[in-house]
Amino acid sequence: MRKGKTFIISGPSGVGKSTVLKALLERRKNVYFSVSATTREPRPGELDGIHYHFMDVDSFRKWISMEQFLEYAEYVGNFYGTPKRYVDEAMAQGRDVILDIEIQGAIQVTSKRPDTVRIFIAPPSWRELERRLTERGTDSQEKIQKRLLRAKVEFQTAHTYDYFVINDTVENAVRELDAIMTAEHCKPKDR
Ligand code: 5GP
Repeated sequence: MRKGKTFIISGPSGVGKSTVLKALLERRKNVYFSVSATTREPRPGELDGIHYHFMDVDSFRKWISMEQFLEYAEYVGNFYGTPKRYVDEAMAQGRDVILDIEIQGAIQVTSKRPDTVRIFIAPPSWRELERRLTERGTDSQEKIQKRLLRAKVEFQTAHTYDYFVINDTVENAVRELDAIMTAEHCKPKDR
């Protein structure tokens, strides 16, 4: 059976990861996209079980104590975590897995599973990132500033990732991600 690979996609809030990943998953139907758990409030249009598993802090802590997370982290006042079970099930089926997680989570996963491929998605410019965050209209000015500050810190770690993709247009970013996934499966160590 073909061996699945785990791909971590990180990048600043507002960079357009969700849009890019949605288009990528349309191309790669067999990929399992990990739906995270979070304690943040749903944004308009976000559905429980599709975009996130929304839960309160007590339930999240319970999951932590029961070791249900592959990784978890706090991000701008909320918890986010990757449920371990579904990822393991997908891997057992030989499927590729994509995790959309921030850097603390990426470090945890890589230390547990060193063969994970890490991809950093960056905006074409800071001004553009600020514009995208503001246009999204889901966060207060204070939250936007916190997310931008966090983005700058995250950007300093981008060089530790295996790949760097600039999301100038969705089409370009998807093409590059698709190519990276193909290339990773062509590496001799996979044979
Ligand atoms: P947002 O609130 O914009 O949906 O996500 C905020 C940040 O949390 C993003 O950088 C996203 O990649 C990250 N994130 C989403 N799910 C997880 C998760 O399960 N674990 C970790 N560590 N980060 C996550």
